[in-house]
Amino acid sequence: MSDLDRREFLAAVTAGVAAAAVPAGAAPAASSGLAEPEFRPLPIGSIRPTGWLARQLRIQADGLTGHLDLFWPDVGQSQWFGGAAEGWERAPYWLDGAIPLAWILDDAPLQARIARYVDHIVTRQRADGWYAPYPADAATKRYDLWAILLANKALAQYHEATGDARVLEAVVRSLRALAAGLDRTPLYEWGRFRWYEGLVSAFYAYERTREPWLLDLARKLRAQGVDFEALYRTDDITVPTPRRGLWKWTKHIVNTAMATKASALSWRLDQRPSDRAFATKMLEVLDRHHGQVTGVFSGDECLAGRSPLQGTELCSVVELLYSLEHLFSVFGEASFGDRLERVAFNALPATFAPDMWSHQYDQQVNQAQCTVNPDHLFTTNGPDSNIYGLEPNFGCCTANMHQGWPKLVAHLWMKTQDEGLVAAAWAPSRVAFASHGVPVAVAVDTDYPFRETLAVTVRPERPVRFPLVLRVPEWAEGATVSLAGGAAQPMRAGSLHHLEREWVGETTLAVRFPMRPRVTTRYNETVAVERGPLVYSLAIGEAWTRIHEGEPHREMPHGDFEVRPTTPWNYGLVLDPARPEASLRFEERPVGDRPFSPEGAGMSAVAKARRLPRWTLAHGWAGEISRADPEWARAVPREPDGPLEEVRLTPYGCTNIRITEFPRTGG
Ligand SMILES: [Zn+2]
Repeated sequence: MSDLDRREFLAAVTAGVAAAAVPAGAAPAASSGLAEPEFRPLPIGSIRPTGWLARQLRIQADGLTGHLDLFWPDVGQSQWFGGAAEGWERAPYWLDGAIPLAWILDDAPLQARIARYVDHIVTRQRADGWYAPYPADAATKRYDLWAILLANKALAQYHEATGDARVLEAVVRSLRALAAGLDRTPLYEWGRFRWYEGLVSAFYAYERTREPWLLDLARKLRAQGVDFEALYRTDDITVPTPRRGLWKWTKHIVNTAMATKASALSWRLDQRPSDRAFATKMLEVLDRHHGQVTGVFSGDECLAGRSPLQGTELCSVVELLYSLEHLFSVFGEASFGDRLERVAFNALPATFAPDMWSHQYDQQVNQAQCTVNPDHLFTTNGPDSNIYGLEPNFGCCTANMHQGWPKLVAHLWMKTQDEGLVAAAWAPSRVAFASHGVPVAVAVDTDYPFRETLAVTVRPERPVRFPLVLRVPEWAEGATVSLAGGAAQPMRAGSLHHLEREWVGETTLAVRFPMRPRVTTRYNETVAVERGPLVYSLAIGEAWTRIHEGEPHREMPHGDFEVRPTTPWNYGLVLDPARPEASLRFEERPVGDRPFSPEGAGMSAVAKARRLPRWTLAHGWAGEISRADPEWARAVPREPDGPLEEVRLTPYGCTNIRITEFPRTGG
């Protein structure tokens, strides 16, 4: 964006905020009976993406998200919208991501279609408060209430985006029906493991109506749901599910990712100290036993240990992002923002084709190829799980993938309790908010995470004093900020840096988060290369092959694809983990039209490596690396490593196939 464009934008934003200081569906400032979150998210539409992030959201709207309802029966002909197809989670899942996407982009055609669907749901709501897909004879026909929790969460977003009072009324009526229904049929299965999702809409409605029964409903959902703190006192959680093993509710990866926010929602009800402590502990347990370098956990589709060959389901990636947005909001700890960026800039983009017309069910950290693979070693997922396609393995991710990017945009900035603004995650964006009733526009101009510098411009309509709080990543040793061309001030890594001052006119801050390469030791003594919030992987030449040619709906550019390597992948890295900069050379590139594609990567690195002839495909995947494995050890003297070569590393999120956790080999 040019300087002139930026000024015009800031002027327009300021004018818009002045006209409606608080958007239609916004919450009141305080909420008695419910603890205030440390930081409160801004209403949908307050934050707009710019730069590479604007291009990424446009790619999403031009891809599956903006078209799914036009051809995929489980959304387009959903019972929620008057059709005869699936009437449970799929259409609400799509709405949950399509609503923030459409309103953040001001995409009028998508907004119009969504408005028609929501209108259908609201006008067909029954007199008893249940939505149309809920069976009329619920006493004999089972209907897992998880879908109702999800639908109300999506509809609350619609109300926030549009201010349509009918929709808030529909949510309140539905929650009242739920409160009574839970006495007849307590939560079971999905609803029991996802009870806290119901608190999202119950809290939203409570903050706007002050009806105390909504908090009683929240407590009832908690009482009927799974106690994750108790669950995580058992050892079973720490044990990887056996390959081709048993599916378990307690170790289901999507339930797990969603549940990481349960304690944050519960804490708002009664401020139990144990809830605050458990939020961090749950993530620590998952990292220690199932953590992946991208900030997610393995789950294919139950928790599967730390091996880079196990898969991570796409649903769990977008759900973990949403959970981290809650955790940062409620508890206000910088580390949740660090993980939010790590997942959003690595695991999220990697699992989509660059045009977002196809996606995987499971991504792997070491993913040498993506083929239909009956010989796979997933725990319970099937042979199609890591191909790119419309609905590989199962269609839940097809319905649920949409919330990742738009909710990230909506949570980049949040409001502090003292009328300030805090950066939860860093990306090019514009935000409009009001401090002490004064409209303020803030712009972030940057190619972060591909660059280490950011320009933050603050422009209040008239002078106003408030804190601007900058999240300083844990890895950013030597971070600095300078005000309006002044001297650089140090900021402590891993902190929330407060800049409290009277903001007058336009002020630009130059922020620098120094990105030094880091080498971390991973599963079985392998190494991974990181720099800033990005993980780096071997860039592998790739050949895409279309499969399942006979599938319907071919008028849309979606499809199922296998991806195979066209260049070698079996390298060990030659580097000194204590001095990675000595053997890695990072090179800036322009951030492409498709920021997360092999050709669009805004940064790459040259590393020293040797081919390892003993490292071959096994079970259709890159073979397991194990120093203790006699097969691996025995091969060493027979097959010496190849000659020293230079190889190119590229951000994990820009790859479609990759090697990320490397064996080390001698210099
Ligand atoms: Zn899924």
